[in-house]
Amino acid sequence: MYRRDLIICDRCQSINKRLPLAAKEEARCAECGAMLYSSDVGLEYKILSWSLTALVLFVLANIYPVISIDIAGMSGSLTILEAISRLYDEGFLFVSFFALLVLVVFPFLLMSFLFAFSLFAVAGIEKEAAKTLLLGVSVIRRWSMLDIFFISVLVAMIKIYEYARIEFGVAFWALASFIVLEILLVRMVPVGQLWDVWERRYHAA
Ligand SMILES: [Zn+2]
Repeated sequence: MYRRDLIICDRCQSINKRLPLAAKEEARCAECGAMLYSSDVGLEYKILSWSLTALVLFVLANIYPVISIDIAGMSGSLTILEAISRLYDEGFLFVSFFALLVLVVFPFLLMSFLFAFSLFAVAGIEKEAAKTLLLGVSVIRRWSMLDIFFISVLVAMIKIYEYARIEFGVAFWALASFIVLEILLVRMVPVGQLWDVWERRYHAA
């Protein structure tokens, strides 16, 4: 049975009662003193501004080339979408389709859903739509894989570093910043905390 009023300590597994917090307060375990959760008052404003920034970065990351490579006078540059369409042209249908989903469609939907959710929550409107958006976020958050793509690009760079001149484009830095925001927004904020925002915004009123 799931009880929202109780919380288990990650460190000592003792059960604590969940209490409402004021701004900037944090709850600690009664047994061992480990931090259980912190006040998320204002989390919706943070999500609103960060997801909007992430969407702008996402557009930049997709319209400009990620890298430009110069090997012995032969140069070329590639955007994320060009890389995916090249995979398609070379016959990797499934891989290119999967890449399109996890590198373009899902990251974009994830940030759009977070943006729309926080916009509705801040305005206190569209209760049911906000709920649907949160359900969408819980499903999609595992399927945004731009961070893995970024690391693979870096690994590939190391391999050709010795005999190529590499220039990182605008999209490279936009992508890096997008990933930092995604980690802060999605990986560091548990979905439960978003549901807390939803309850606070729509039930308290
Ligand atoms: Zn504890």
